[in-house]
Parts: sequence; C-alpha cells; structure tokens
Amino acid sequence: MNTPNLCPKCTTERLERVIKVVRSKCWKCHEDMLIAFGFEEEVQELTPEVFTSEELEATRGAGANLKEKYSKTEGRSYMANVCPKCDSLTGSFFLHDHWLPVEHGLVSADVACRTWRCPKCSPTEDEIAEELEWQEEDEGR
Ligand SMILES: [Zn+2]
Ligand SMILES: [Zn+2]
Repeated sequence: MNTPNLCPKCTTERLERVIKVVRSKCWKCHEDMLIAFGFEEEVQELTPEVFTSEELEATRGAGANLKEKYSKTEGRSYMANVCPKCDSLTGSFFLHDHWLPVEHGLVSADVACRTWRCPKCSPTEDEIAEELEWQEEDEGR
C-alpha cells in the first residue's frame, strides 16, 4: 500500500521511484557486474537514462558503473550500465532481461534508493508531450 506522498511545492501526489541493482555478468566478457534500473510506481520501467542526479549518485554509491556512452546499435549516446572490465554497454534492450525476473520475484535485487517524483513539477518528456496535446485540443475547440 502506498501512503499518499504530497509534493511540498504544489501538493500533487508524488510517484514512488525505486532504484535497484542486481548482480549479473557482462553479456560480452562475462565479468561480474552490477546492473541498475528502476521502477516508478512498481510498473513503469526506469532505465539509467532517466535517473535523476540523486538517483545516479545513490546507484554509483551502491557500486554500479554508470556512464554516458555511445551505442552503435542505437546511434546515440546515453547513460547506461557499463562493464568495468571491457567497457561494454548494457543497452536498454538487455535491461528487460534483468528487470523482468526482478519484477516477478525470481531474482533478488538490492535497493539503491527510493525517491519521489512530482508529475507536475518534474514531468517526464512523455508527460510534457501529453500536456501539449491537451492544450492543442483545447485551442482547436
Ligand atoms: Zn565486459
Ligand atoms: Zn509539485
């Protein structure tokens, strides 16, 4: 059960974010490494790309090697879990292999941190886009 946690600025109900780290192996060189990812409200998957600076700090404190790195597969740079030995990036695609077993309770993960996000004061790109769509609809009426 979630107790409502209200934003001190605008009193909107905030969303709980839980950042986790799991022990795993590098897909390329099989070195032990930690993979970090998170969940918002227990369902929405959070990749390191959308971690806040507070979350990045906590995750690094927990031992994960997070770096901004260029992915050839995706043709862009982004914050990702990187192998400490061979510097290979675990792409967002591979993260699914890690968060699904954790979500289903098959693999245990350590909690790096728990944070709260106000959807009004710090909206995601999706929420901003949605808000704009609503505004455009209103204006068209
Ligand atoms: Zn490696
Ligand atoms: Zn707020």
